[in-house]
Amino acid sequence: MAIERTFSMIKPDATKRNLTGAITKVFEENGLRVVASKRVWMSQKQAESFYAVHKERPFFGELVEFMCSAPTIVQVLEGENAIAKNREVMGATNPAEAADGTIRKLFAESIGENSVHGSDAAETAAEEIAFWFGGNEIVG
Ligand code: UDP
Repeated sequence: MAIERTFSMIKPDATKRNLTGAITKVFEENGLRVVASKRVWMSQKQAESFYAVHKERPFFGELVEFMCSAPTIVQVLEGENAIAKNREVMGATNPAEAADGTIRKLFAESIGENSVHGSDAAETAAEEIAFWFGGNEIVG
């Protein structure tokens, strides 16, 4: 298996409830090392740009508003098969459908306010990491 990097966000519903450490602990327990991390309060423009792929979806406005409602932790996670591993550890988008032990099952409040984001493929991981981090901010 290859060592990969993926992009993660701990979303506003989770930072508001002081779950940054608890969620990061789940990453670390599952072999995902935090090689970059910062706290950002994103602007509407940043949220619209980051989630541009969803701009025609009915939930887009709500999603942008939610992502700007409180701080977010943006992170780069590194490990074996990190992209798929992180998706597995996150659980299904809707916490009602998420498997036991996953972050969304443990912590998410709803399909929208679902505590974490994680890249879904190698190409999006590279784009999303570059969206938030300069190369010198990632320390492997
Ligand atoms: N989302 C939402 N309503 C929906 C589907 C998605 O509010 O019906 C939000 C939710 O925060 C989700 C994000 O939009 O995490 C991106 O959706 P995607 O389908 O890419 O899910 P993910 O990759 O985050 O599991």
